[in-house]
Amino acid sequence: MIHIRPHEQAGIAGKPGSQFTGDAFPYLTMPATDGVTINSVDFTPGARTHWHTHERGQIILVVAGRGLIQSEGGPIEVLRQGDTVWIPGGERHWHGAAPDSFLIHTAISLGVTDWSNPVADEDYHGPVRSEETAS
Ligand code: MN
Repeated sequence: MIHIRPHEQAGIAGKPGSQFTGDAFPYLTMPATDGVTINSVDFTPGARTHWHTHERGQIILVVAGRGLIQSEGGPIEVLRQGDTVWIPGGERHWHGAAPDSFLIHTAISLGVTDWSNPVADEDYHGPVRSEETAS
């Protein structure tokens, strides 16, 4: 058994050159254990991850706020409290806060995460998929 207490994990603000654009505060909830890593991330408005892939996929649980997520070649979708997202292994994507809201999510990552380039402002501010027509 591995018992991890949140107060033992320090938050680290996103910095230029890190895997975030804007101010994001990742908390390592469970360091990599048998290939599973859990992070809770607080994103300030406009903050988002760089493009990246997860070796064997990722589950995102939206805890609070409102955010955005996009897989390469797909629409930008809105994330709301209570949403769950499965991102298959190797699917290039980003996630983060909406421009006008904070976002808190828990991310359960399977295998190694491979970080790439930042999400350009024009891509971040691209058209958002209408929730009325989302299936
Ligand atoms: Mn991800």
